[in-house]
Amino acid sequence: MTPVIALVGRPNVGKSTLFNQMTRSRDALVADFPGLTRDRKYGEGYNEGQKFIVIDTGGLTGDEAGLDAEMARQSLQAIEEADIVLFLVDGRAGLTAGDEMIADHLRRSGKKAHLVVNKTDGQDPDVAAADFYSLGFDSNFLIAAAHNRGIRSMLAELLPEPENPEEEDRADRYPGIRIGVVGRPNVGKSTLVNRMLGEDRVVVYDMPGTTRDSVYIPYERHGEQYTLIDTAGVRRRKNVNEAVEKFSIIKTLQAIDDAHVVILVIDARQGLVDQDMHLIGFVLDAGRSLVIAVNKWDGMDPDDRARVKEQIARRLDFLDYADKYYISALHGTGVGTMYESVHACYDSAMAKWPTNRLTALLQDAVAQHQPPMVHGRRIKLRYAHQGGSNPPVIVVHGNQVDALPGAYKRYLENTFRKVLKVVGSPIRFEFRSSE
Ligand code: GDP
Ligand code: GDP
Repeated sequence: MTPVIALVGRPNVGKSTLFNQMTRSRDALVADFPGLTRDRKYGEGYNEGQKFIVIDTGGLTGDEAGLDAEMARQSLQAIEEADIVLFLVDGRAGLTAGDEMIADHLRRSGKKAHLVVNKTDGQDPDVAAADFYSLGFDSNFLIAAAHNRGIRSMLAELLPEPENPEEEDRADRYPGIRIGVVGRPNVGKSTLVNRMLGEDRVVVYDMPGTTRDSVYIPYERHGEQYTLIDTAGVRRRKNVNEAVEKFSIIKTLQAIDDAHVVILVIDARQGLVDQDMHLIGFVLDAGRSLVIAVNKWDGMDPDDRARVKEQIARRLDFLDYADKYYISALHGTGVGTMYESVHACYDSAMAKWPTNRLTALLQDAVAQHQPPMVHGRRIKLRYAHQGGSNPPVIVVHGNQVDALPGAYKRYLENTFRKVLKVVGSPIRFEFRSSE
């Protein structure tokens, strides 16, 4: 499982600066999707080959009374569920009452946290840190987030050794296509999971130890193998009356990460809301392929249906390569038809293309539409090979590739997508200069 790091600290200590540094290498690989504003609260990063998920809990000020209660609840839950908690303080401002309240909260929650003294640039780091000894943390790090100092070594110390994800092993345990069913609370995930598994299907699966983890449910349909990653905890409940599980952003992020294909459930009665958009952003950042299920389509009048369809077409126009289904999990309408897209997504995410095919495609694309000139010389793109799957990574070699404009990268992505028939999955491009 990908480890999850939660950043805690009062406003202005540098959480978002640290967050950006931790996720930056990642962003460089992801094409930007015009129209998609990303939530800068959760992201993925890499350090020395180890992948991690980072959450900026932001909302905690140490003064919960003044806060949006739901925000605070989500933040507290994220701290509770994280593998590593980093408590950030400001080495310039010194110790404040807000820091003490957060430290007190962490102590009472019994959650082990590491103290990170930020903004140690331009001063003696040990002096900066001394102010915070009274908080009583035995694990301290000194960093300067804005200058990217101390972050790599801190992560190297905190993160586990990178394990090579043994696709073989995991595939043995969880056969077939892994489908993650995710979405905000109440959109109908549990209902959909029950519908997909069928009422009377006998399934055997491992029950995870904690409610933080999704339930992995292998099953068969029309002779094909799948594993459903259930974030709603449907099968954990002993009976239908048992309370629905709390929504957990960490569980959701990990399920996305572990899936081949994500079915993102949206509530048609509410339309697309910001949290849906943030989840979509995370799915794309994680490089997973996506099927959109607009649920509760039953019993809606034609005007409302038209309005929702129009809104989705407008806000998701950057996602025209992902299939959208209008379904009723309650009645089962449209649920079976989604499998066609699940397979198309899986085939796209796992496809392998030979180097000569990718290079020919690249050269055709360049011949159709030349990259621009930079410093009086034309940017050259020479050959391409595949660098990975789920998501497909295309590595392009050439000269002056750092100067390649975003619009040209999008042109390449669209061209490759069309010719290679990549459905539902993002494509990642890496550009390497050979001079
Ligand atoms: P957040 O509210 O905790 O997310 O804090 P921000 O990341 O927005 O940072 C607050 C301010 O501190 C910004 O003006 C940053 O530029 C500044 N800052 C962040 N990290 C450092 C650092 O390492 N050194 C210095 N000198 N300033 C920093
Ligand atoms: P979850 O929190 O995402 O797992 O959502 P649930 O599956 O628990 O569903 C939340 C509520 O929406 C329940 O009252 C469901 O009966 C209802 N619901 C789920 N799917 C549908 C649907 O397709 N149509 C209608 N009308 N209601 C639905």
